[in-house]
Amino acid sequence: MNKNGRGINLVISLLLVAMMLFWFSSTLRRMESTCTQAEFDRIMDSGEVSGVLIEQNREVPTGSAHINLKDGGDRLLNVTDVNVLIEQLEAAGVEYILEDVPAENVFLTSILPALILVGGLFLIFMMMNAQNAQAGGGGKMMNFGKSRARMSVGGDNKITLKDVAGLKEEKEDLQEIVDFLRDPAKFTRVGARIPKGVLLEGPPGTGKTLLAKAIAGEANVPFFSISGSDFVEMFVGVGASRVRDLFEEAKKNAPCIVFIDEIDAVARRRGTGMGGGHDEREQTLNQMLVEMDGFGVNEGIIVMAATNRVDILDPAILRPGRFDRKISVGAPDVGGREDILKVHAKNKPLAEDVDLKQVAQTTAGFTGADLENLLNEAAIVAAKQDRAFVCQQDIQKAFIKVGIGSEKKSRVISDKEKRITAYHEAGHAILFHVLPDVGPVYTVSIIPTGLGAAGYTMPLPERDEMFMTRGQMMQEIMVSLGGRIAEEIIFDDITTGASSDIKKATQLAKKMVTRFGMSENIGVICYDDDDEEVFIGRDLAHAKGHSELVSGEIDREIKRIIDGCYAKAKETILQHESVLHKSAQLLLEKERINRTEFEALFV
Ligand code: ADP
Ligand code: MG
Ligand code: ZN
Repeated sequence: MNKNGRGINLVISLLLVAMMLFWFSSTLRRMESTCTQAEFDRIMDSGEVSGVLIEQNREVPTGSAHINLKDGGDRLLNVTDVNVLIEQLEAAGVEYILEDVPAENVFLTSILPALILVGGLFLIFMMMNAQNAQAGGGGKMMNFGKSRARMSVGGDNKITLKDVAGLKEEKEDLQEIVDFLRDPAKFTRVGARIPKGVLLEGPPGTGKTLLAKAIAGEANVPFFSISGSDFVEMFVGVGASRVRDLFEEAKKNAPCIVFIDEIDAVARRRGTGMGGGHDEREQTLNQMLVEMDGFGVNEGIIVMAATNRVDILDPAILRPGRFDRKISVGAPDVGGREDILKVHAKNKPLAEDVDLKQVAQTTAGFTGADLENLLNEAAIVAAKQDRAFVCQQDIQKAFIKVGIGSEKKSRVISDKEKRITAYHEAGHAILFHVLPDVGPVYTVSIIPTGLGAAGYTMPLPERDEMFMTRGQMMQEIMVSLGGRIAEEIIFDDITTGASSDIKKATQLAKKMVTRFGMSENIGVICYDDDDEEVFIGRDLAHAKGHSELVSGEIDREIKRIIDGCYAKAKETILQHESVLHKSAQLLLEKERINRTEFEALFV
């Protein structure tokens, strides 16, 4: 995109320079030979003129005269009245020819040269672009369409399904694909139809790429992979020919897997972009569909693709005979997290005290990639201390680093700031503990984090939940407001420290009203359909789905929820005011307290 932009700028500026030069030289030429009426009179008087060619404009008496001199030179004169000039010439006895001004051929004189110029520049630009796209490859200039797919065959692709932890159902779903690739004849013999395309869908880092590789490794077949984002920067026509090459290569190596990563980059819904369609992308996508339709069901090629935005895909690719199998790969649950941690802990010596189960419990929402990163950070912490094994504390430190940004003990904070933070976090913590559907508290800390938070209170989720209840959401809002409330109770004043808490509470309340149908006055209607701005183009064309009246009502409902939660939360904290003081005190002493230390305060 960027590269193309720069290329076009280059072409435009070159064009402008060329045009200016052209214009400048032609005026120069004219200036050289043009003479004034006075000058002309002088030449006439001295008898230097040998002949004149008058070009007369059609409807008016003006025109121009080409004056030939006896010494071989010539002059150009702009004539205001041709008849006057003719009289003058006849009086002096100079020969002249009178012609109409030739109709100027605009096409020949200006459009054609411009076209040639643009065409030439375009060619140069295209070659440069193709060369760029080739950079890293052989760099052969005309080698536009060579597939950049990476292939790995049996031996060097050692990843198998064993390396993919968790994802039990996903692996079961894919088992028949493995069986098919291992022995296609077994299936074709009985006329079974195997899906041609499998679409893996899920958030980044959940192991989609890993899963595709593992299938190839497990079946011991070649694995061709290409990323959709590779196509985006390509020049017109290149993407499509790459796709053609890729499939040609795959057919030669069947049975095999063709893996298209980040397919959303090419297979976005057509005709929804801003500022005109993206021809290149559409051509690439069309070619992909043509290729997929082109080979038979049991030719032994399985096309796998991955995306984290299945909602923006062109529906055409989901049609039968294309990606007709969709597998959702979600963030892992507690058990899955533990398994993934075990896989990545394999090559890291762990101390006795490491409890991966407990780590799994505190990392709800972490993807496989996050967990891998967590253990890697822990190993780095251990290595920094010259230890040959990773202990639980290393993991905790790594957790804070990857989860919240690294602790910065060195930053100087005033005692007053510290006191405010201690009460603020204590306020959150008390509500986490007291309210039935949230918490319990895992850590409370007033050590500032790298991301600008003065402290944090982390809950320990005991189970993974599919959905939240209304009560739970209200309690989440109350917890978010707890920090600010504690500040208000103790200091009679409030700080700016609670802004992200307030934002979180407001967003949740808004969702309750506009998305989950949880407020009585608004009812069970979804007023929230901004799908994260993917279809800016399409949304601009749409009017907002509800009136100003409803907007006002939504705002009032949000305020009602927040106000209600605020009052209840304040009441709850006031009931435990002694704990508030005690936990703030303990926090100031130790800077960080754990669950047991915190719960001991409630007696
Ligand atoms: P995605 O393609 O879904 O964005 P990747 O497959 O690239 O995610 O995963 C990135 C890394 O995270 C993998 O290389 C692997 O180390 C780790 N990972 C992710 N999911 C798992 C899993 N289920 N089991 C083991 N490791 C995983
Ligand atoms: Mg990936
Ligand atoms: Zn807070």
